[in-house]
Amino acid sequence: MFQGIWINKEDGHYSAQLRGINKEQLPEGDVTVRVAYSTLNYKDALAITGASPVVRQFPMVPGIDFAGVVETSSHPDYKPGDSVVLNGWGVGEKHWGGLAEFARVKGDWLVPLQSPFTLRQAMGIGTAGYTAMLCVLALERQGLTPASGPVVVTGAAGGVGSVAVAVLAKLGYEVSAVTGRPEQAEYLHKLGARHIVERSTLSAPGKPLAKEQWAGAVDVAGGHVLANVCAAMRYRGVVTACGLASGMDFPATVAPFILRGVTLVGVDSVMAPRPERLQAWKRLASDLDLGLLESLTQEVPLADVLKLAPQMLAGQVRGRVTVAVRG
Ligand code: NDP
Repeated sequence: MFQGIWINKEDGHYSAQLRGINKEQLPEGDVTVRVAYSTLNYKDALAITGASPVVRQFPMVPGIDFAGVVETSSHPDYKPGDSVVLNGWGVGEKHWGGLAEFARVKGDWLVPLQSPFTLRQAMGIGTAGYTAMLCVLALERQGLTPASGPVVVTGAAGGVGSVAVAVLAKLGYEVSAVTGRPEQAEYLHKLGARHIVERSTLSAPGKPLAKEQWAGAVDVAGGHVLANVCAAMRYRGVVTACGLASGMDFPATVAPFILRGVTLVGVDSVMAPRPERLQAWKRLASDLDLGLLESLTQEVPLADVLKLAPQMLAGQVRGRVTVAVRG
């Protein structure tokens, strides 16, 4: 038996609890991993609370990412004792995930732990941080450099936002951090944000075009926030959209795209191809300050994710949450 978070839906009743799970119940897969750390991402919070239909089959062990050590493997790339990391691929949604002491997955979904990260640091980054780096890579692919002009990060005090601010600042960008929690200004300045922008200035319906401010953007919010960010981009600015913390809708006009040549790039971490994952982890190793990573991470035991999940959806969790699973 091992401990894990167990989500079930029976007779219309949705439940999530910490309980013992029989190892024989682990799903199909060619690699069994002793999970050391997982994390609490926004999507995990949605899964645990049932606030949105993230879980596709029941019962489910949530956890869209984990870092751990291979226990058994019939995959040619992995052997017992290897340190590995998993992000996405539907794990924690339709295949049992990382919020448990053991996980069994397809070896093709794993990547080797990137040096110099420890298992704990890799999950300090987790899917949120890896997605932040995918956004940075997408901005660069569109030609953005620090010389292009200032950049903006929304949901800056959250997981994706905190890592995006830290990485972009380290790369030399002038970063504006949008937050609904101005009391986190000192934290955001420490991560490298030059300016703090009150979320309320972007969360109401705005004009099709606003004053040109930013050359690049990482948006985790969607909704009016994303529409207003697009409207305030400089000529030929680039916006990466990866989240829906504000909403799934996009109440915008085409004005920024057809009049200012703005580019809107969608970023998905779940099915991102392996070469891009490896590139993102490699860039995190060079472009994320490990001291800052520590300062934006809190570590909690497995049982605590149940009470933290609703707090995360209410926007009350700062930075990243690392879950010490230690199977
Ligand atoms: P967090 O909960 O850690 O951060 C979200 C942040 O968004 C909050 O901290 C808050 O920051 C801000 N926020 C909260 N409510 C609102 C609102 N109503 N309007 C605008 N901003 C709001 O979540 P993550 O950083 O882990 O994830 C952020 C988003 O990115 C989620 O929607 C998640 O699903 C998505 N995501 C997508 C991925 C992909 O593959 N596309 C991968 C990972 C995440 P503040 O207090 O500073 O305003």
